[in-house]
Amino acid sequence: MESDATSTGNQGLLDRLEGGGTVICAEGYLFECERRGYLQAGAYVPEVVLEHPEVVSQLHRDFVHAGSDVVEAFTYYAHRDKLRQIGREGDLEPMNRRALEIAREVARETGTLLAGNISNTNIFTPDPDVVREVRQIFTEQVAWAVEAGVDYIIAETFGPDEEPLLACEVIKETGLPAVVTFQPDYTEDDRRHSAGWTAAETCKRLEDKGADVVGLNCGLGPRTMLPYLPAVRAAVSVPIAALPVPYRTHFAEPVMQSLTDPQLGMRPFPIALDPFTCTRLDIAQFTRSAYAAGVRYLGLCCGAGPHHVRAMAEALGRTPPASRYSADMTKHYYYAPEARELSAILPSPLETSSPVAQET
Ligand SMILES: [Zn+2]
Repeated sequence: MESDATSTGNQGLLDRLEGGGTVICAEGYLFECERRGYLQAGAYVPEVVLEHPEVVSQLHRDFVHAGSDVVEAFTYYAHRDKLRQIGREGDLEPMNRRALEIAREVARETGTLLAGNISNTNIFTPDPDVVREVRQIFTEQVAWAVEAGVDYIIAETFGPDEEPLLACEVIKETGLPAVVTFQPDYTEDDRRHSAGWTAAETCKRLEDKGADVVGLNCGLGPRTMLPYLPAVRAAVSVPIAALPVPYRTHFAEPVMQSLTDPQLGMRPFPIALDPFTCTRLDIAQFTRSAYAAGVRYLGLCCGAGPHHVRAMAEALGRTPPASRYSADMTKHYYYAPEARELSAILPSPLETSSPVAQET
């Protein structure tokens, strides 16, 4: 296994990005394992890594097959405070170590990058005692990731406040590359309750802390994430990341949490978002637009499926193994022989200006 370290070593991620290449990182393991019936919604911890590791291995493989360059260890929310809250603190270390082991096995087998993962704790405040506790949460998870031999560490799904800065600091103490992404505030009310920083300001602070890649993930769908990207690109010199949720958010309901469904009579987030799911064409369109805005680290968060990831890869001009089975409507009874006309309706880049998310 030692020889693998050279092909997917620490420099793999940064070399690729500095050379102008793109990196695709498939995410969304919580939602997908929940949909498959191996993880409980609500608790939302990666119990599947202990109870059905084969499901996680297969999902890693599915995402790589579809074009992901990265196998991200499924340690999202596997942190001490979250597990304590649901009475499973005893599973903390086994859950982290097993998730890393599963991811490592698939990354080595497929020649992809192996990423560790830490995330929002949901307890963060700037109070020094809380900062100390959260630092400890990050430190133990990062240490297990380092022991597992990860190529870099992803810190994700924070608010635009000091928590991602702290996560970045802890990762950089290990010397590994840090990819740090967060969800911007999207209402005035959010802004009053958080640090009040714009997405671009938060990215600049992260860059100053030493983050190697900065950007946005989760919450926002493709259409509502795009408007933030030009300001983020202008604010920093490091590569930037965009990993929206594949849901059809819009400017009146910019994040998946704010989507409403008149037929449902309750908030669709998080278990009834199905009718809002993006098509693969939406994702291809997003990918082209994000690339045009200067994003080179691309991916999808909660809700993503392998078909979305393949659409992203193909929009970047790649042919991942799953492209062997990409759609060909000339073979479809309903469309042939008119199928060639389908190419005429392929989407053009999304509009990137909007009344929401204007940041300077
Ligand atoms: Zn997410």
